[in-house]
Amino acid sequence: MESYPDAYLQYLTEIRDMAVPMLDAILRENDLRPVGTGFIDIITQTDRCPGFVTCVSDLGIAIEMVTLWCHCTDENRQRYGCPHGYGGPKCDGGYFSEMCERDSFEITMDALSSSAPGALKHEVHKCNEQAMNYVRYGMKRRSDYSPCFVPGFWLAVPDKWKNSWAS
Ligand SMILES: [Zn+2]
Repeated sequence: MESYPDAYLQYLTEIRDMAVPMLDAILRENDLRPVGTGFIDIITQTDRCPGFVTCVSDLGIAIEMVTLWCHCTDENRQRYGCPHGYGGPKCDGGYFSEMCERDSFEITMDALSSSAPGALKHEVHKCNEQAMNYVRYGMKRRSDYSPCFVPGFWLAVPDKWKNSWAS
């Protein structure tokens, strides 16, 4: 997080008290739960991605990385030969298998440099469009693509921001 542009980091500091409970609410509304104690590896079924990313973008939080997970269920085992990775968190009907040996998609954050809040939010939307383009098109162009793949979003917030499951 040290690598975030100064303007964005400053902005995060200002919105922190409002943004952390809002992020928790967004996660619960979308029935999502981060894998750890923070706001990284938010594994999201593909059909829920547009709604979730829109909420996060409207809050002014950027996505910095998208990791890949295999949605391992009995049905997907038969259809696609899952699991495609290692162990992972349980979900309805199976678990999400961590594909940590594969490269993740990193979003270029250099653009988050406006000091005007309105302009900065616009830049956040641009970053998050990169993430959605990867979910819609980029990950499907991978040579190893399988329909069981689902993205895990890493929000660009300080490590010390903890989700409400952590406490
Ligand atoms: Zn799979």
